[in-house]
Amino acid sequence: MVQSGEMSKSKIQPSGCFEPAYDGDGRLDIKSLNQEEITKQILAMGQQKFRAKQVFDWINKGVENFDEMTNIPRSLIEELKKKCYISVAHIEKKQVSLYDGTVKYLFKMNDGEYVESVLMKYHHGYSLCISTQVGCKMGCTFCATGKGGFTRNLTPSEMICQIEKAQKDSEIRISNIVLMGMGEPLDNFYNVVRFIQLVTSDNGLNIGVRHISLSTCGLVPRIYELSEYNFGLTLSVSLHAPNNILRSNTMPVNKKYPIEELLAACRYYAEKTKRRISFEYAMISNVNDMDECAHELGKKLKGMLCHVNLIPVNNVVETDYRKSSKDRLESFVKILEKYSVTATIRRTLGSDIDASCGQLRGKHISKGGV
Ligand code: SAH
Ligand code: SF4
Repeated sequence: MVQSGEMSKSKIQPSGCFEPAYDGDGRLDIKSLNQEEITKQILAMGQQKFRAKQVFDWINKGVENFDEMTNIPRSLIEELKKKCYISVAHIEKKQVSLYDGTVKYLFKMNDGEYVESVLMKYHHGYSLCISTQVGCKMGCTFCATGKGGFTRNLTPSEMICQIEKAQKDSEIRISNIVLMGMGEPLDNFYNVVRFIQLVTSDNGLNIGVRHISLSTCGLVPRIYELSEYNFGLTLSVSLHAPNNILRSNTMPVNKKYPIEELLAACRYYAEKTKRRISFEYAMISNVNDMDECAHELGKKLKGMLCHVNLIPVNNVVETDYRKSSKDRLESFVKILEKYSVTATIRRTLGSDIDASCGQLRGKHISKGGV
């Protein structure tokens, strides 16, 4: 149910707007710009409009440097090199699962920072789980990324690069994007919004917005703000606990945005976008997997347009969290069904290749790879 219109509206406060990035040499991140903005840049260089279209097309083709723009005059190429840069994701490391062919990439970005993406094959096509930040500020206790702290936001172009490089390397077309790699997407709100706009555009990778999922730990004001865009993407919410005491123990964000406020925002989002919310629940043995937890969760979610994904927690070094047993998972599903809340146990892919987000980067850093 939507709360009173007035109340909901008062919660929707824009937190800023998209601002393009510059590198250490003061050059502009051209690949994050839309057609209109690229045109403005090229016209400002004293060029004609058709040149702007040519540059825009090359960028969308995924060129990695300006020299590849073969129909652009040398003088303009030199000027572009001076004033702009193209983001590139270099493959630093690649692991392929022997069980299911899942591929995990460790990408090195232009400034030497590392991020991960995971390519998974499903019956309906290929799905890529991409990172939205280098590290994360949210500090969830079960998460390898959270343990490493926060370095910086990724630009929209750096999110696109992950897709382009994975497609090129694996020689496949990616049809689904999951914003569920390293980082909290809603903590990098306007870069993520711009990424969604670029990646769904006819001129860009042209991925249907219904084939995009965004996962958040629950930044309540940004959930309201996202609902205003009405993108039609799937919102996944990392819930992982049925009450404030348990949730605040593992997810510090809950102290700022308690579960009642989070669920109200989710109800608003579902009502506004008519899209089912997907709740993620990592099952940790003897922490959040008891029958009482399932009853408490069932009561709270009853009647909401939602689905629960139960995920046996991935072991992460420095924690003593252990996966719940199969019986526990099944019992949890049955109890939720009593409250008419549908739940499934998520298949784990790539369990032999450091499947948890942040693990590959963490290992690389600790081995002195950076
Ligand atoms: N920051 C966002 C998206 C990135 S994390 C979020 O938290 O939703 C992607 C998902 O992996 C989240 O659902 C997160 O809770 C989950 N996750 C992190 N560490 C995990 C672990 N050790 N086992 C299982 N799921 C984990
Ligand atoms: Fe950040 Fe998500 Fe990891 Fe929490 S689970 S620390 S929000 S990446």
